[in-house]
Amino acid sequence: MVNTGTIIYEPGSSANNKTGSWRVFKPILDKEKCVMCENCYIFCPEGCIQEKNGKFEIDYDYCKGCLICERECPVKAIKAEREEK
Ligand code: SF4
Ligand code: SF4
Repeated sequence: MVNTGTIIYEPGSSANNKTGSWRVFKPILDKEKCVMCENCYIFCPEGCIQEKNGKFEIDYDYCKGCLICERECPVKAIKAEREEK
């Protein structure tokens, strides 16, 4: 039997596939340090960084821990912590 992995059969259904369980490292966003440059929002491949009430927040249901946001933040407002399971 072939393992179908993460193939998406229904167009537009990827929001149902929560990728947060893949994480080894968890990005933590310090809202006090954040200068709202939008780099993390633009570069996040999961589209899971959203602005809420004038601050950016990470939706951990979909963050897969790639840490691109940490690398792209110009003021080091995002730090990686090892995920607790
Ligand atoms: S770690 Fe990756 S998936 Fe998670 S918020 Fe940062 S860029 Fe997005
Ligand atoms: S990249 Fe850093 S400074 Fe820019 S919006 Fe994201 S957390 Fe804030």
